[in-house]
Amino acid sequence: MAKRNVHLDSIRCKFCGDFDEMAEHLFIFCNMAQVIWDYVACWCRLQAFFAFGVKNQVNLHKQFRRLKKWRAAVYTIIQTVV
Ligand SMILES: [Zn+2]
Repeated sequence: MAKRNVHLDSIRCKFCGDFDEMAEHLFIFCNMAQVIWDYVACWCRLQAFFAFGVKNQVNLHKQFRRLKKWRAAVYTIIQTVV
C-alpha cells in the first residue's frame, strides 16, 4: 500500500515490528510465520521446512516424493495457510 502512495502510520510488520511489512517477510521470514510453518510441518508430519520466497513456499509440495493425493492435500494446506 505504501508503494501505491497510501498513507500509513507505519510499514513495519505488525507481528514483530522489526522489518517492513513485505510479502516475503510476512509469509516466510517473520518469526510468527516461521512458528506457523513449524506447526504445519508437524501437523503434516514433515521435517521443518524453510522456503526462500513466497513462490517457493507455495510450490513446496512438489519437493516431496509421496502420493499425488498427499501432495495435493499439502498444497491445499499451504494455500490455506498463506
Ligand atoms: Zn515480522
